[in-house]
Amino acid sequence: MTAEGATFLSTKARLSYLVEAPPPDGATLEVAPGIQWLRMPLPIDLNHINLWLIEDGDGYTLIDTGFPASSCTAVWEALEATLLRTRPLRRILLTHYHPDHMGCAAWLQQRYDIPVRIAARALPSAQFIVDGPSPERTEAGVQYFMAHGMSEARGYFATLAEMRRKSPLRMMPQVSEPLVDGTSIAIGHWQFRIIETDGHALAHQSFYSAEPKLLISGDQILPTISPNISLSVADWGLDPLGDYLVSLDLLAGLPADTLVLPSHGRPFTGLHARIADLRAHHLQDLALLRENISSPISAFELMPVLYGRQLKGFNIYLGLHECVAHLEHLVRRAEAQREHSAEGHYRYRLC
Ligand SMILES: [Zn+2]
Repeated sequence: MTAEGATFLSTKARLSYLVEAPPPDGATLEVAPGIQWLRMPLPIDLNHINLWLIEDGDGYTLIDTGFPASSCTAVWEALEATLLRTRPLRRILLTHYHPDHMGCAAWLQQRYDIPVRIAARALPSAQFIVDGPSPERTEAGVQYFMAHGMSEARGYFATLAEMRRKSPLRMMPQVSEPLVDGTSIAIGHWQFRIIETDGHALAHQSFYSAEPKLLISGDQILPTISPNISLSVADWGLDPLGDYLVSLDLLAGLPADTLVLPSHGRPFTGLHARIADLRAHHLQDLALLRENISSPISAFELMPVLYGRQLKGFNIYLGLHECVAHLEHLVRRAEAQREHSAEGHYRYRLC
């Protein structure tokens, strides 16, 4: 399990991969006319991210940027002497604000004096990631975890604070012109429609070209990972799982033979099969939770049911948020109820 999601495979025959193997770390491979796939190594549990360099006039438009770490900036510096020597970066588009996508954006922006664009609705979340949690926000997180059944949340958050102090993401790119949902953007000879969806990250944007059929899917559709769906205290009141399922319906409206360029894993065709599998996976999780809500029970107590094991470390943080997202979706569907005890504890029961 990583911050971007947990491994979840489709059966082999359902997806058809463009290539047998990805390019080596830091190297590029042309996957469509004028589109270079750059495999960027990541210094986190998830070992790579795919970035897309699209020929645009005398330079490149770059989609996503890598993690804010020297291993990623070293790749960018090396590319200055090769790929970018004759064709420099001209602008950056971000699918969403997660650190492996946005992490080098400010650094590249300052280095090359180029514009960075992302959805306007993503900007507050992006700023929050850059600022890190304030004492008030951390306390709200502690209270949230305690309410959802983790009695030792205070000690647990103290260990998280230690991990976060090491986070190097402390620079926010300047965004003068946000990207607008439903509009078209020309990149070289490509014409992309912007498709904005919620669920994995607020205001995540995918880029769809109708001719030839190609979807730069960000983290919304991944071939081997079920994208993380979290309901944190900051988003309380939203229904990220419901939003994600709606996004799957929306993307299922694209042609079945669309080539998908995902942020993790290899480019593939089989969009409809993958969407069906991701949807079924979440419906199965919902059914599993329903079966195990026998008496009023907390999200924390239900986590081993959902994951089949006791989670450790940062996975508890991810897992509880994802478990709450599923439980709150059951509440939205009027299949479960949330009870509040006098002590401020939340417990779920079936309707
Ligand atoms: Zn993400």
